[in-house]
Amino acid sequence: MEWDQATCHLNGQWLPLAEARVSVLDRGFIFGDGVYEVVPVDTVDGVRAPFRAAEHCARFARSMAAVRIDNPHDDAQWLALLSQLIERHPWPRQSVYLQVTRGVAKRDHAFPPGVSPTVFAVSSPWPVIASEQLEHGVAVVTHADERWLHCDIKSVSLLGNVLMRQFAVEHDAAEAIFLRDGRLTEGSSANVFVVRAGRLSAPAKDHLILPGITYDAVFDIARAHGLACDVLPIGEADLRGADEIWLSSSGREILPVTRVDGNAVANGRVGPLFRQMHVWFQEAKRSDALRWRERMQQFPRAA
Ligand code: PLP
Repeated sequence: MEWDQATCHLNGQWLPLAEARVSVLDRGFIFGDGVYEVVPVDTVDGVRAPFRAAEHCARFARSMAAVRIDNPHDDAQWLALLSQLIERHPWPRQSVYLQVTRGVAKRDHAFPPGVSPTVFAVSSPWPVIASEQLEHGVAVVTHADERWLHCDIKSVSLLGNVLMRQFAVEHDAAEAIFLRDGRLTEGSSANVFVVRAGRLSAPAKDHLILPGITYDAVFDIARAHGLACDVLPIGEADLRGADEIWLSSSGREILPVTRVDGNAVANGRVGPLFRQMHVWFQEAKRSDALRWRERMQQFPRAA
């Protein structure tokens, strides 16, 4: 099945993706007035399971609360919907997209009264992470962080991120990573970790970065294995002088960065801590998949 043959969920109905329609007055279209989630699903030991599904639901709820959209579903309903999306599609690896916008109303910036949110959910195939990238690392380019001051909200208003991803593409890089006032924030669609002298560090989850589900997973795994971890500001010199740099996101898991603005990171090769973390991360996915299988036995099939 190709991605465009998917069945999607729109406002409580299942229909072919090609037939799904929303009004041109939807505030997601007019104002970017909505929030979203992307949940990665992989087949681990024969189980198709989303990674850290409960954490994605919790962040989705937080994003809705932050922009004052009433959450149309509770966590159990979101998880049931997620499970149905996975089951309706044959792909062993899926990327499930969930979106809620404030709804359809006459164009006016202020919140419209009495409007129901628009709910859209779809799954698409999630390509395997290229072994080339894991073996040799990826290139990134830096750019001033020109986005707004609520980067902790997973908003569909992504123009700042879109422009920066295009900047990366035009510079033959896998990602653009941002500096704000001389400090590392994150990438256009990933969090960033730095390894220095055997310690793993990343900027704090404040309003300047998205609180990544993978970011939390990486720190949880690192701490569980006794790795020294620091959450602290990372200056431009710390970034450029790092022993290792990693990207983390649901779509790319963890990726080693071996070039920044055309310069090699340390010796230009993928570092030992990355290789170790990659193994630990796959183990964490396995445990998470088992937990998902157990939880799914308790959920009703229908959302
Ligand atoms: N930062 C930004 C701006 C993102 O768009 C993303 C994910 O798309 C991330 C960080 C990583 O978040 P997660 O690990 O939850 O996918």
